[in-house]
Amino acid sequence: MHRAAAVRAILGKLGEKMQILKQQPEKLKSREEQIRERLAQIPESQRRAYIKAVGRKSMAAACKSFCYECVGYVREEVKVCSDLACPLWMYRPGRSVSGKAKIERFSAVESTNDAGSDE
Ligand code: SF4
Repeated sequence: MHRAAAVRAILGKLGEKMQILKQQPEKLKSREEQIRERLAQIPESQRRAYIKAVGRKSMAAACKSFCYECVGYVREEVKVCSDLACPLWMYRPGRSVSGKAKIERFSAVESTNDAGSDE
């Protein structure tokens, strides 16, 4: 009897919450609204890349824009990004080495990490 009353109380509360959710469905913002809001948060110097990216003008601009966002729009942080496992690491802006050199550098960092993991 006690248990049944508790279950009824819980179901009653769930029902109330469902009613509230039905009455106030969360309005999904349109892509344009979201882009406008995001653009307002981006420093002016980095808006061009974002606009090119969301306008499907450039994949490179998309990588650049994403990296800037990832590091809080501090350009220098992208150059020294240490997240070697990030899928964008090889494509991040500000890298100053050729593709082959990047792979060699990546391998060197990898072997350094392997050597440091012996415990
Ligand atoms: S490469 Fe670095 S800066 Fe760019 S998205 Fe990945 S973790 Fe962020």
